[in-house]
Amino acid sequence: MVEQRSIETRLFIDGAFAEAASGRTFATIDPATGEEIAHVAAAGAADVDRAVGAARRAFDEGPWGRTTPSDRAKTLRKLAGLLRENADTLAALESRDAGKPFKETSFRDVPRAADNCDFFASAIEQRVGETFSARRPFLGRDREIQSIVQYEPVGVCALITPWNSPLMQATWKIAPALAAGNTCVLKPSELTPLSTLKLAELCTEAGIPDGVVNVLPGLGADAGAPLVSHVGVDAVAFTGSEPTGTSINVAAAATLKKVTLELGGKSANIICEDADLDDAVEGSVLAMFRHSGQVCLAGTRLFVHDAIYDTFVERFTARVRALVVGDPQQLGSDLGPLISPQHRARVESYVASGLAEGAEVLLQGARPADAALQKGNYLSPTIFAPTSDELTIVREEIFGPVLSILRFSGDADAIARANSTRFGLAAYVWTRDVSRALSMANALQAGMVWVNGYFLRDLRQPFGGIKHSGLGREGGRWSLDFFTEPKLVCVAR
Ligand code: NAD
Repeated sequence: MVEQRSIETRLFIDGAFAEAASGRTFATIDPATGEEIAHVAAAGAADVDRAVGAARRAFDEGPWGRTTPSDRAKTLRKLAGLLRENADTLAALESRDAGKPFKETSFRDVPRAADNCDFFASAIEQRVGETFSARRPFLGRDREIQSIVQYEPVGVCALITPWNSPLMQATWKIAPALAAGNTCVLKPSELTPLSTLKLAELCTEAGIPDGVVNVLPGLGADAGAPLVSHVGVDAVAFTGSEPTGTSINVAAAATLKKVTLELGGKSANIICEDADLDDAVEGSVLAMFRHSGQVCLAGTRLFVHDAIYDTFVERFTARVRALVVGDPQQLGSDLGPLISPQHRARVESYVASGLAEGAEVLLQGARPADAALQKGNYLSPTIFAPTSDELTIVREEIFGPVLSILRFSGDADAIARANSTRFGLAAYVWTRDVSRALSMANALQAGMVWVNGYFLRDLRQPFGGIKHSGLGREGGRWSLDFFTEPKLVCVAR
């Protein structure tokens, strides 16, 4: 276990770190070694009450609610600067807590966390209201009517994040929430709370007033559930699994909270016969195996056209065999460990179900034999070639390095089968024919379709899914729409 004092492990409420009211803690474990990194305070209902109370006061009494957009933008830019100054510490901490390859935390997640703050600082400065002019008779006289639509913060926001990209997710939610003038209670996953607690420290250093950002590490049932049903919370922005999202939607409905849900997926990745095969192979490896497949957007159903099936599958499988499973802190590692022993066992049970249901195996994943990796939750990639789309491995979100490659014969066949899922997060199409790409994109039931690319993200764009992949959108003006309420002020003269 690391020296407790070197990293913050307590709840952050009203600008101060404190133990949980119950005195309870939970261990956060390094998935690469099985060692305890630290014991972290476990929030419960009493802590939720305190944190929501602090956020409520900071919202109702200020000063945050009375700041101007440019004041808030300045503070968010300061936070972005502090995230960059602390990038090495944050990237190492995130890699250790989440088992995510350091090359991803340091080159993607931490820079993106800072960019989220800068982006929403600029977005709020540019956000404008609307005015309307009209003339209309009222009470016997013709009136000039001028109406203003102004965007006001929603209030106290509960922000709940999953374990796979904790710092990126936390900033993706607090930056627009704060930019719009809200206060918040942020609950990171119990599996990866450390980078979010470091973020709390940086919020204070950036000058964010007490009570505006509160952070409650803790278990879903003990800290998350009382938070989403709390009467003092006005909105819930959640990213996580489909079952948790469904239960949050039910809980939040009882007190009529605004809710946005970013949930799981079973995304189709369609390789047409006219695709640039180099790009399609490389892009599909990324789309499937980044962070060991523990990514909501993972292209877990890979549809390959009959005409190129053998060539593509041979090249793709050879490329996947070459991926390095290893210590996430090493720059050479492509796949780190899975988040927990329980999660690895769950992923392995999907592999077993694929085998039991008779799917052909092109590459059989296994726990690596390397002595240095025995204590971590490592699992190498599995590639199935099922002949039916009805298999459990083709239907369920596995959230691990397990892929199904499926053969298709025409665009209509690919689209019908790609859409035959309860999820609708992302889809990918690889083709040189732009017209064909657009027809397929129109027909695919997904919140996001990438053509000849994987996750080419622009912060101005909407992010989110349809069907069981979520409700609402985050990103760009869609985040600001969620974290604001339009108020109409209508003046008759
Ligand atoms: P999870 O649903 O188990 O947990 C997510 C968060 O919800 C955690 O902080 C957890 O403590 C909390 N929680 C659990 N029960 C709760 C309750 N009853 N009330 C309130 N909060 C509760 O998800 P996870 O395992 O951390 O993350 C993996 C899932 O997240 C996958 O399904 C993945 O697809 C999804 N995900 C989606 C996106 C997206 O943007 N669509 C991004 C990343 C991950």
